[in-house]
Amino acid sequence: FCILQNVIVVLHESLPLQAMFICILSLPLFHTFISLLTLFLGDVRVRSRAGFETERRGSHPYIDFRIFHSNSEIEVSVSARNVRRLLSFQRYLRSSRFFRGITVPNSSNILDDDYNGQAKCMLEKVGNWNFDIFLFDRLTNGNSLVSLTFHLFNLHGLIEHFQLDTMKLRRFLVMVQEDYHSQNPYHNAVHAADVTQAMHCYLKEPKLSKSLTPWDVLLSLIAAATHDLDHPGVNQPFLIKTNHYLATLYKNTSVLENHHWRSAVGLLRESGLFAHMSLENRQLMESQIGDLILATDISQQNEYLSMFRSHLDRGDLCLENANHRHFILQMALKCADICNPCRTWELSKQWSEKVTEEFFHQGDIEKKYHLGVSPLCDRQTETIANIQIGFMTYLVEPLFGEWARFSNTRLSQTMLGHLGLNKASWKGVQREQSGSGDDVDPTFEEMDSDILPQEPRLS
Ligand SMILES: [Zn+2]
Repeated sequence: FCILQNVIVVLHESLPLQAMFICILSLPLFHTFISLLTLFLGDVRVRSRAGFETERRGSHPYIDFRIFHSNSEIEVSVSARNVRRLLSFQRYLRSSRFFRGITVPNSSNILDDDYNGQAKCMLEKVGNWNFDIFLFDRLTNGNSLVSLTFHLFNLHGLIEHFQLDTMKLRRFLVMVQEDYHSQNPYHNAVHAADVTQAMHCYLKEPKLSKSLTPWDVLLSLIAAATHDLDHPGVNQPFLIKTNHYLATLYKNTSVLENHHWRSAVGLLRESGLFAHMSLENRQLMESQIGDLILATDISQQNEYLSMFRSHLDRGDLCLENANHRHFILQMALKCADICNPCRTWELSKQWSEKVTEEFFHQGDIEKKYHLGVSPLCDRQTETIANIQIGFMTYLVEPLFGEWARFSNTRLSQTMLGHLGLNKASWKGVQREQSGSGDDVDPTFEEMDSDILPQEPRLS
């Protein structure tokens, strides 16, 4: 009976209604069902295998924590290791679920029109600084990055201008979204969507909008969407001290940012989204996206900020000059990446909690494996308020102060306004917790020392 029931369900899903009735009417011919069942199962196997093969792509900061059990001999076959390295961490988890027979329900059908309607409604205000990306992510059933970026490509006329194949574009964006690790509390696709939305707000600012070319807008949106691709949820010092191969590959320098960039290039090539462009243009695009993503390395903040400051002091920024425009886009992406404290308190507080959770999770692993707990990662000694106040004081305020000099608009004043209010709120929390109120995390004060490059990335 169970087999019969399953077959009817299967038939219902895979055959036209008439065909199903014909099959059911011939029910006494049991062997027909057996044949159909065999056919169906065969089909499932073929399709599943094909599905799995498409996942053997991507990059690979899979961290094998078993390497820390120094006393025990771990025998992992070479082939098993190789397979794991072919997959991104996210893909590895998915494929192992597949082999264990656990299926993740395809939830794309859960959404009803009401939710889609509300998401569409939200997109009409995508340029609003109060845009609630968490709500948008819920309304799109976890597809905020795909939905938002696709919409922005359309809004900026990029699909038409660059004659993009919309199927390839959607496929590219789905691959990007999937290569973010949804289990990371902070560095996941929602953060990427948030940064992309912020970038869109900056691109609309008068100084930029009147001088940017479609090419600039295209690069900016791709770089924003991919800037943390395949982030493992731990920072560079963690990868270095655990001898992760990415640290070796990128010689301990901007390890994560290089990896995000190269992962983005891999997906661009695989999707064939720009296959119709000349090789020269594609290479230029890849290298310029790299310049943008590499600028998000927070340990390089001082260098970028002093260059920005010098330009503003001299008043020599000329946005007709492509090099100057790209420098401003680097600064814009840096702002978008660390703009959490410039959002409304309700949004900003959620981001603060998420990033701290990720730091503390790293600290827990470091404690467990006696790796030495990284600064800001110890849940016994750190608080969200202290971390946030230090972050705002030493990184966010200086950057956004200069940005407001460059683009003194209502948006810049709004961002600085939220920044001031949020800092005051965290100081209130700090006073309640400690009774003093003047503690600033000293870690951020040591920006020029070697410590900052080893900070957990706040981007
Ligand atoms: Zn980021």
